[in-house]
Formats: sequence, C-alpha cells, structure tokens
Amino acid sequence: MNTGTALIRRLIAELGEDAVLTAASDVGGFTEDFRGRYKADALCVAQPATTEQVSFVVRACAESGTPVLPQGGNTSLCGGSIPSTEGARPVIVSLARMRRVRHIDAANGSMEVEAGCVLKAVQDAAAEVGRLYPVSLGAEGSCQIGGTLSTNAGGTSVLRYGNTRENVLGLEVVLADGSVWNGLRGLRKDNTGIDLKQLFIGAEGTLGIITAATLKLHPLPTHQSLAWFAPVDPEAALRILGMFQERCGSSLSAYELMNARQLELVIGHVQNRRNPLDGKHAWHVLVELSNSRGADAMDELLVQTLELAAEAGLIEDAIVASSDTQRASLWEIRHSVTEANKKAGVGLTTDCAVPVSAVPRFIASASEAVRDIVPNIDLVIVGHMGDGNVHFIPMFSFDEWRAMPDAAATGATLRRRVNDVAHQLGGTFSAEHGVGQTGLQEMAHYKSDIELTLMRAVKQALDPKNLMNPGRLVP
Ligand SMILES: Cc1cc2nc3c(=O)[nH]c(=O)nc-3n(C[C@H](O)[C@H](O)[C@H](O)COP(=O)(O)OP(=O)(O)OC[C@H]3O[C@@H](n4cnc5c(N)ncnc54)[C@H](O)[C@@H]3O)c2cc1C
Repeated sequence: MNTGTALIRRLIAELGEDAVLTAASDVGGFTEDFRGRYKADALCVAQPATTEQVSFVVRACAESGTPVLPQGGNTSLCGGSIPSTEGARPVIVSLARMRRVRHIDAANGSMEVEAGCVLKAVQDAAAEVGRLYPVSLGAEGSCQIGGTLSTNAGGTSVLRYGNTRENVLGLEVVLADGSVWNGLRGLRKDNTGIDLKQLFIGAEGTLGIITAATLKLHPLPTHQSLAWFAPVDPEAALRILGMFQERCGSSLSAYELMNARQLELVIGHVQNRRNPLDGKHAWHVLVELSNSRGADAMDELLVQTLELAAEAGLIEDAIVASSDTQRASLWEIRHSVTEANKKAGVGLTTDCAVPVSAVPRFIASASEAVRDIVPNIDLVIVGHMGDGNVHFIPMFSFDEWRAMPDAAATGATLRRRVNDVAHQLGGTFSAEHGVGQTGLQEMAHYKSDIELTLMRAVKQALDPKNLMNPGRLVP
C-alpha cells in the first residue's frame, strides 16, 4: 500500500468515511477557485469537526511527510486556497464543519468562535447581543473566520475599526506537528512576551491551522447615514475625505471609490443594480457615517459636508439614502463588483495600498504605465480609498484574452507595472487579499533580503519539515 493510500485509510478510520473526500466529483469544489483561474489535484479533502480531529489529521500528515493545505470558504482572489500544480499533492483540511460560536461575553466585548464560522454568521451572532464584529466584505456570506484571519482580511470598515488583525484578542492553533496551542485569551492588555497570535494572522496557513479565535467586539451602531456622490476627480475625492474626517471624526465608517467603468460593469452584469445618480460621471464615492447618537444629527452632518464640498466645486452630483432599503441597495452596488468583474472578462486584479494622500497620483501614474504597454486598455478601478487601498484592474474581454498569444506574460507585465507604481509611492502590492499564488513572485521582487530571511527563520522554527502549505508566502 503506498503512503497516500495508507494515510487516507488512517484518516477515514479516525474521522469517518463521510469526512474524507477522495472521489473527483466530491473533491472538485475544493481544488478550483471561484473564478476558475487556479486548479490542481489534492490527495483528499479532510473535514474534521473538532480541534482534536484537526490535530489528528495534521499529526498523521506530519508522520507520513504529506503537505497540508488549510481551506476556509475558498473565496481567495489570489489562488491562496488551491493546491499548487507543482510538488506533492496535499491533504486539503476544510474547516467548514467547525462552525460553533462557543461563547459571547458582551460585557467584555469578545466572542469565541470556531475557525469554520462564516463571517456573516459571526456578525449576526454579535448583533443579537447588541455588539458589532466590524470586519465586512463582499464575500462575507461564504468566507470563514479562519480564512479572514489567515489573510488578515480588510474590507469596507477598516477606516474606522482596522483590519482583521486589529479585531482579534486570542487564537487556538494546531501546529505543524499536530500539537495544539491554546491562546484563546480575551484580554486587551497582555505583555507576557512576544505576541504569538500575530505570527499566525496573515500567515496564509504556512505556520499552522487556526481552529478558533477570540474576536474583539464593538458597540453596535444604531444608525447609519449613507450618501453616493460623484467627485470631480480622485484629487477632489481625497479633499472631500479630509473634510469628512475633520467634521465627522470617528463617525466616518466607510469611504469607497469606483470609476465609471466599474459602475457600468456592475449595472451590466448583476441583476437589479442601477446607477444611483442621473447622467454619467467619471468617478463615484460611497460614504457612510455611523454611530449610536441621533439619526437626524448625523444625516444633517452628512448633508452639510456634501454641501460644503459642492460649494468648493468638488462634487458633480450626490444623493443621500433616505431609507434602510435605499442604504442596502447602495451597499449592494459596492459588494457586487467582484461578481460583475468575474462575468465581464479577465480582470488582472491588483491589490495595492499607498499612503492615502498618494491615491490620486497612484491612479494617474498606474493608468499611464499600463496604457504605455496596451494603449486603450479597459481600466476598472475600485477601492477602499479611506485606507489607501486601490484595486486597479486592467480588464480584457474573454475573446481578447484568448486571442493574445502571450496572455499570461502580458498579464504578469501589466501587474508588475502597477505594483511598481505603488512601490515607488511607498506602497505595497498586497494590501488585503493575501499573497496566495498570484503574489508569490512579487514577494521575491519587492521584499528586502532581511525581511525574507526573518520570515524563513520563523517558518523553519514553526514548520521544520515544510509541510504546512509549502511553497507559499515565502518564496
Ligand atoms: C466577492 C468577493 C469580495 C471580496 N472582498 C474582499 C475585501 O473587500 N477585502 C478582503 O480582504 N478580501 C476580499 N475578498 C477575498 C477573500 O474573501 C478574503 O481573502 C477572505 O479572507 C478569504 O477567506 P476564506 O475563508 O474564503 O479563505 P480561503 O480562500 O479558503 O483561504 C485563504 C487563505 O487562508 C488559508 N486558511 C484558510 N483557513 C485557514 C485556517 N483556519 N487556518 C490557517 N489557514 C487558513 C488558506 O490556506 C489560504 O492560504 C473577496 C472575495 C470575494 C469572492
């Protein structure tokens, strides 16, 4: 019996037949990403239901020298959750069966959840006790807490609450040899040495499998005020952001930018999405204020700030949402961009962040750099402007992409041009989606030798056999 077959038998004996998938028809959903860009084989998919079972699977893999690939909701936009085509086939460890909310301590502002909990379920459970788990993104109905932790996900409320890293108090992790580290502390202060949980957040499954987390909760805002407006250009959008920050302080909870092309794709490819404004405008911003004080006062603040911006000649048109239904439909436009872009063609999604003040320069210079190579290329631009995070997406139709003899190489060159512009402005090529497979070459290109050496030392210390998601993150 070969090693792979023996391992599968061992896993079935411990987890049960229904928790270890081997048939191609069962495994298919785990070995291809949702845009159909990455696909590779796995030895099997293990679906443990408890931390002890995860520990068993990892120990068994370590003993047989088999790589392990943890998988959450498989919503990665950079091939992070799919096996590589090179190297030994891994055991995919799906956390989907670990979806218990173990405990909520509203007075402490914390909740303990298992890694397979879907993000939306966690938000809902917190809301039931009047608390907010603030991480929010378009994939929140499918992505899991473990995936958001492992990629340090961002989303639309980073401006006010920070990214995932800033909303975690403790972790439980199965280490590369199968042992379990219980760091599920609900403390806001704990200076007892190196903060180990930070090593696993953003590590993309290369150091261990996160099985549970203690998350930080916030007071649940009782009112949101939302407006959609057309700034004259990105420079105007930046100036208006400054006005909102000065006038509204911490009530400013989202500031999202998109260009006309992005809005057109959403309206054209996703049902029931309409242009919120009359006429055509080159740029659009969705701005949200939220707090637990008077709704009227906040609406007034929103309107006054927009009026000031209009008087300064920075805005072409604006609407303020007047009902929950209208607010939901404006957010639906923003949350539909990934679905629309997937249907529209082959978008070379980039995930750059630059200092917020440099966003207009980034957009102008990246447009120039890309059009230098492919004049007239379709440019789709959408981003969390309040965080300096712009998804700058050179877009090809499916026919154009198929007809290009060297499509992959052209794609890599265009992405590199965009990332170079971000780098020159003091930015990064990977702001929130993770490095995955798309960004691996960029790690080698942009990270300093000393950073890579330190990362390799951490990897060697925690995973000496190099079995946890090998070949990822550290090139
Ligand atoms: C429509 C849409 C909108 C999106 N919007 C945003 C956005 O606004 N902001 C943003 O940041 N991202 C966004 N994303 C990307 C994606 O949703 C996030 O990266 C998310 O955090 C991935 O979670 P997941 O559970 O699907 O993880 P997966 O895709 O399954 O895995 C991602 C990585 O984490 C590792 N991993 C997963 N679970 C564990 C675990 N328990 N322990 C250790 N490692 C693990 C995997 O090995 C892989 O390397 C979007 C995606 C889609 C499809």
